[in-house]
Amino acid sequence: MEVILIKYGDLYLKKDNRNFFIKTLKENIENKLNGLSFEIKNDLSRMFIYTDNTDEVIDRLKEVFGIYEIVKVKELDKDEELISNEVIEFLKDKDYKTFKIETKRSDKSYPITSMEFNKLVATKILKTYSDLKVDIHNPDIKIEIEIRNNSAYLYLDKYEGLKGYPVRTLGKGLLMLSGGIDSPVAGYLAIKKGIKLNYIYFESLPHTSLEARNKVIELAKILEKYNDHGKLYVVNFTKIQEAIYKNLKPDYLITIMRRMMYRIAESIAKKNKFLTIINGESVGQVASQTLTSIRAVNDVTNYPIIRPLACFDKEEIITISKRIGAYETSILPYEDCCTVFVPKHPVINPNLSIIYEEESKYDFEPLLNEAIESVDIIKLNEVNNNNNLEEYL
Ligand code: ATP
Ligand code: MG
Repeated sequence: MEVILIKYGDLYLKKDNRNFFIKTLKENIENKLNGLSFEIKNDLSRMFIYTDNTDEVIDRLKEVFGIYEIVKVKELDKDEELISNEVIEFLKDKDYKTFKIETKRSDKSYPITSMEFNKLVATKILKTYSDLKVDIHNPDIKIEIEIRNNSAYLYLDKYEGLKGYPVRTLGKGLLMLSGGIDSPVAGYLAIKKGIKLNYIYFESLPHTSLEARNKVIELAKILEKYNDHGKLYVVNFTKIQEAIYKNLKPDYLITIMRRMMYRIAESIAKKNKFLTIINGESVGQVASQTLTSIRAVNDVTNYPIIRPLACFDKEEIITISKRIGAYETSILPYEDCCTVFVPKHPVINPNLSIIYEEESKYDFEPLLNEAIESVDIIKLNEVNNNNNLEEYL
């Protein structure tokens, strides 16, 4: 049985919530490790996983938010002789020239201080390996030891965690998910802050294709690696989009279409107690994302809207998209409902009184209600890989 030590992410700041955060992180880890055999023990500062599937467990832990660092350790009795021998064994056949011992002693009743412990182990190493030297500032290898209440731990290997907060610790949100590059990245960043995501996708069949929907499902499934059982709300947006297209000024088409999306998203968020709406808007990226445009669209709601990418450059967004494995899917060439109806000259600085006048030309209320009532809900964990969607709708 091997042991993996987990250092918590940004939890220490949240004193009162600490127990809740740790409990949630533990449940999230249990879900993530589903199917493997393992046992978890924890206290207020560390979690330990005992398993025979170390590599697989570590790979999966790398996809869990709320973990600062993942450390493969050796669990040992708190006996300096035994620990020193383990360190000597660990250094055998390695070609380091310099080293440093770093002991942390959280068990203050242990009679040897950290400094003394460092010296004690270092002395034994120097005796055993005559060509090794101590280098405090820039060692080839830093050997870390933790002396805790029950046992001591020798670090063998360290991996960076994803950091952030455990999913679900900040409540639920609704991500406006299109098939593009931006919205999956926005969703990822929201999950990172502990928000449990659900997804909303506006589609305009037959102007958009089922392939476009499948692409959105694929993107949602990529985000599900980090999330916790999100649902995808698929809104039939065709009639609304056609009504806008046929009845209103073409240059205001996108602004008004986006206002309709926000209205529907708000209604679905409220109904399901999702506390916020998240989208991939990035200031200045396109005509519909100038500050005036964002203000004109945001005008339909006072619901909290989070725009994680507001101030990101496209290049930064693409870097994250690639890192989370979404990019290849995002760039597949299926049109979304915005591109189908895109006007030649979308307004860059939309005017609210013109918007009100335009919207009053047509009674959208019944269409909005119909779209909200006929929304299809897809449980993403039940979508299998052959994409036979009819079963889910
Ligand atoms: P993306 O790359 O995420 O598609 P974008 O740069 O193409 O974004 P827009 O098309 O203006 O920008 O959309 C801005 C945001 O509005 C998107 O990031 C997404 O959150 C939301 N959005 C746009 N179209 C849809 C849609 N069909 N369904 C759900 N959300 C959408
Ligand atoms: Mg888009």
